Amino acid sequence: VDDKTYEKLNSIRMNCKLCGGLGYSTTQEDDDIHIVDCVCVTRIKNEIQLIEAGIPLRYRNWTFKDLTQKFKSKNSRSLGIVRNYILNMDKHISNGTGLYFTSQPGLGKSAIICNILKKALKNGYTVYYGLGFELVSLKFRALRQDAEAIATLKNILNNVQILAIEEIEKIYLAAETSMPNQIFNELIINMYDANISLLVSSNAFRPAYEETLPPFIQDRLKNLTSVTFLGSSARVDRRKQG
Ligand SMILES: [Zn+2]
Repeated sequence: VDDKTYEKLNSIRMNCKLCGGLGYSTTQEDDDIHIVDCVCVTRIKNEIQLIEAGIPLRYRNWTFKDLTQKFKSKNSRSLGIVRNYILNMDKHISNGTGLYFTSQPGLGKSAIICNILKKALKNGYTVYYGLGFELVSLKFRALRQDAEAIATLKNILNNVQILAIEEIEKIYLAAETSMPNQIFNELIINMYDANISLLVSSNAFRPAYEETLPPFIQDRLKNLTSVTFLGSSARVDRRKQG
């Protein structure tokens, strides 16, 4: 973590009213003194998990309770699929099955995806969140023998059980035979070979560009259950409310 993040995490402990910055509390039972982590330390550990998983700051405190009633009634079927995924997470992780989110931008896909990842972290799973382009760049650097990129990619392939890849349509805006496409296709194959449960998202509706993908990639993406969100964008809603 960088200095600023370190300071922020450290201040959680230093400002803790329960332990006064000690980071632990003690309980006594007969002659035995037990030392346990204070809640502030548990909070810091959770924050570090979110940072390591690449979950952006703006989605860390968001919960499903923040969804508007209007959005919920308009998208009850899709939210049901999300709920089912969460309830059957063990099965999805062992089968390597996942979800494919589509909607126009600003409807809360990212917040919902990050919330699934947070629930998975609580269940003890290893997760990772990235934009399609970030993962392509990671793979590209790994192919160029960048040691850090090789280690990160290896960690994803060996340990991550749920991987979120957002904005995949941006990769396919590039020409079919271009390098980002080729690298991304290779990455998708790697993910499926590693049996990782994928949460893919796109701001464009599926068929528009999927038909241009190589058939073996189309087949793999077809294994993901579609989750489509409808509605006007959150930005528009906010403007309407004044
Ligand atoms: Zn404390």
